Amino acid sequence: MSETPLGGPALPQERKVVTAIPGPKSQEMLARKNAAVAAGVGVALPVSIVAAGGGVMVDVDGNSFIDLGSGIAVTGVGNAAPKVVEAVTNQVQQFTHTCFTVTPYDGYVKVAEKLNELTPGDFEKRSALFNSGAEALENAVKIARHYTKRNAIVVFDHAYHGRTNLTMGMTAKNMPYKDGFGPFAPEVYRVPTSYPFRDGLTGAEAAEVAITQIEKQVGAANLAAVIIEPIQGEGGFIAPAEGFLPAIQKWATENKVVFVLDEVQTGFARTGDLFAANHEGVVPDLVTTAKGIAGGLPLSAVTGRAEIMDSAHAGGLGGTYAGSPISCAAALATIETYETENLTQRAREIGAIIEEFFTELQKTDSRIGDIRGRGAMQAIELVETGSKTPAAALTGAVAKQAGDQGVILLTCGTYGNVIRFLPPLSISDELLRDGLQVVADALAAN
Ligand SMILES: *Cc1c(COP(=O)(O)O)cnc(C)c1O
Repeated sequence: MSETPLGGPALPQERKVVTAIPGPKSQEMLARKNAAVAAGVGVALPVSIVAAGGGVMVDVDGNSFIDLGSGIAVTGVGNAAPKVVEAVTNQVQQFTHTCFTVTPYDGYVKVAEKLNELTPGDFEKRSALFNSGAEALENAVKIARHYTKRNAIVVFDHAYHGRTNLTMGMTAKNMPYKDGFGPFAPEVYRVPTSYPFRDGLTGAEAAEVAITQIEKQVGAANLAAVIIEPIQGEGGFIAPAEGFLPAIQKWATENKVVFVLDEVQTGFARTGDLFAANHEGVVPDLVTTAKGIAGGLPLSAVTGRAEIMDSAHAGGLGGTYAGSPISCAAALATIETYETENLTQRAREIGAIIEEFFTELQKTDSRIGDIRGRGAMQAIELVETGSKTPAAALTGAVAKQAGDQGVILLTCGTYGNVIRFLPPLSISDELLRDGLQVVADALAAN
């Protein structure tokens, strides 16, 4: 038994497949799942997890998987990270709930203070806490509308913002997120983004296309907010061309439109900086955060300029569980861990390993059309040889084979042809390289 780099359950840090995937005990659970859980709640890798930590997840049949997904960019500090476990354990022994808007508590205020200090922008800020990423996006829109007294919002091609009614409308992709679930909320307008691999435009050119469309189809005077992911997540890990985001921000500021960055997936050390905005030369008026914020406990936030955040009346923002004391305790321990363990640096190291590995592989496999991302948020876009035609079937086959070989691998992208790498920042180099080799082997075999 080797200790995991950031502690956690002392699981052997190894890839080990001892049954067919899924194994017999996982299959028993899956049969019960199919009888008890709504069919719409699908699963990517059908195994029953019993423990996780460092860079592995262990299932009920004794298989040990290399985790290249972090539960979708959530467990950046590692699963069951010791400081998080300790903070949560202490908190649940004191009290589990009050509802902050009935009787407040210190942990919520401390998380708000931390977010105000750490998010981009050195102006006076306020924060409000919620449960999920989608809920943070909903509230950012509420706040921007209340502040500007305007209704319209602009989102982008390939965007993903969640699964609630408003955020489904803000999300670009129909299947599986929207199909049959409408009608969607009004006053949501979509414009082109910057997708260097496919549009061939500079950042300035792509911004001009977007801004022209906003001016012609919406009108700045009607627009409350522009909402954008600094690197698009579910849409395919699309990093915009340099200059795109600053141009959009400049236009928004000149037109008194609230500029909202959705850092739900990019936030908290993942990209090699605490926030992706810091790479892109932009400072959001409001920023939404969630996934990496609390080591796996549900928490999200909207943070931003005090005058915008304070415009909503008392009682206008909140929620029964919003900013749960347990999640706040976990968030404080998580944020401290990013700092003390220098995890932004670790994210850059992980990113360099992934980028180097696929740059080498691309020399002999031209189906790797693009390698992109920042820090420990990397992706490869797979295409048919000699073209940019998306290779979605190949992508699915590689993910399936990786799962069978003991690697948890996530796909994404509007065209379903992107493999994304989001390992916990607690993974060892050795495990990471082993996981990447499994992906290379799967590519070679398909
Ligand atoms: C995951 C995600 C959301 C939605 O978060 P939930 O917690 O699933 O509601 C919103 N925006 C981005 C960029 C995301 O990656």
